[in-house]
Amino acid sequence: MKEKLAINGGPKTVNTIFPWPVFDQKDIDELTDIVKSGKWGDPDCSDIVAEFEQEFADFCGTKYALACVNGSVALRIALIACGVKPGDEVIITPYTFIATASIVLESNCVPVFVDIDPDTYNIDPAEIEKAVTSRTKAIIPVHFAGQACEMDRIMSIAEKHGLKVIEDACHGHGAEYRGKKLGSIGDAGCFSFQSSKNLTSGEGGIVVTDDEKLFHMIDSLRNVGRVKGGEWYEHHYLGCNYRITQLQASLLRSQLRRLEEQTRRRHENGTYLNSLLEKIDGIEPLKRGKGETIHSYHLYIFKYDKSKFNDLPKSEFADMLNAEGVPCFMGYPEPLYKQALFQEKNFMCYAIPESVSYKEVSCKNAERACYNESIWIMQNAMLGSKSDMDLFASAIMKIQNAV
Ligand SMILES: *Cc1c(COP(=O)(O)O)cnc(C)c1O
Repeated sequence: MKEKLAINGGPKTVNTIFPWPVFDQKDIDELTDIVKSGKWGDPDCSDIVAEFEQEFADFCGTKYALACVNGSVALRIALIACGVKPGDEVIITPYTFIATASIVLESNCVPVFVDIDPDTYNIDPAEIEKAVTSRTKAIIPVHFAGQACEMDRIMSIAEKHGLKVIEDACHGHGAEYRGKKLGSIGDAGCFSFQSSKNLTSGEGGIVVTDDEKLFHMIDSLRNVGRVKGGEWYEHHYLGCNYRITQLQASLLRSQLRRLEEQTRRRHENGTYLNSLLEKIDGIEPLKRGKGETIHSYHLYIFKYDKSKFNDLPKSEFADMLNAEGVPCFMGYPEPLYKQALFQEKNFMCYAIPESVSYKEVSCKNAERACYNESIWIMQNAMLGSKSDMDLFASAIMKIQNAV
């Protein structure tokens, strides 16, 4: 029998509410203490920021962690600190948030798009190898959705060609590759603390690294070019004020205490949901196991085959699934190189060589992921119970039966 879909006024399959962010009275009390102390920010009262940085570095297993205003700035100052020059090429994929690409342009460098692995939607190391030229200076692998990129292969390509590796771990807080925390494998790793991310203070970002030279340079770039031991009005490098406040650091410290347990829950739910969804004709969860040991499931992604859903377009399927109570989204509408920014080369004042063009770029796997396949379930939903996962699968089957 066909059940009436929630989108048409029928009963919702999932009635659980999936709150985000998660907080309790302790978060509020600690934040209140900071407010009352009057020590809200600026380098003269940054003890809470410093404590959070130490805790985050310990959590990631790196020597250093440097907090800043957001994940985009974290990526940009990490790239600039690596010593890139105008016109240098940086290899990325087009299946990511705009910041991974825009910060390359904002560093006067050229984003070179290579395709994703269709099984994982992560950068394909074989495609990186083909794209390396004499101008290539860095690779920014994005651990998409919280699944580790194939870092062994990426690091060996980087070593062979003398490239820097900056991990975009903005989806990967607490995730691991061969037992190592994401962000701790490349020359630097960057995280975002924006509202939707698995560790959040509303806005914020951080760079982790083991490299002392990078540490000092990034520290200066985020602090108006000041250097340790220098005078207040003494500026050595072209930095800016990218510092975070004590209020953000207070929230991040209490949120960090929850991260490990939350990550384990998302990982377990993701593994379980895979086992349910792979049985549904026309639904294929992304593959796991190319070295990843903990998946942080910032997104739970599956491939949707509309031919098994009476040719129901992907966007309508996502709307129906949302109405059934599964927080989900159809994902990026197109690969980044299709955006007007790249097609029209609206690069503002940045010194991008005239010869650069994105008109002919074509990454088939990324295009298929955007246009035909991918559906994202949001990280807060992955904090639900095991029976919520059962209901997610039921909601999909309900739609399949009804359309
Ligand atoms: C969120 C995100 C960023 C940027 O982080 P902001 O804090 O929003 O600046 C960069 N890369 C990826 C993959 C992201 O998801």
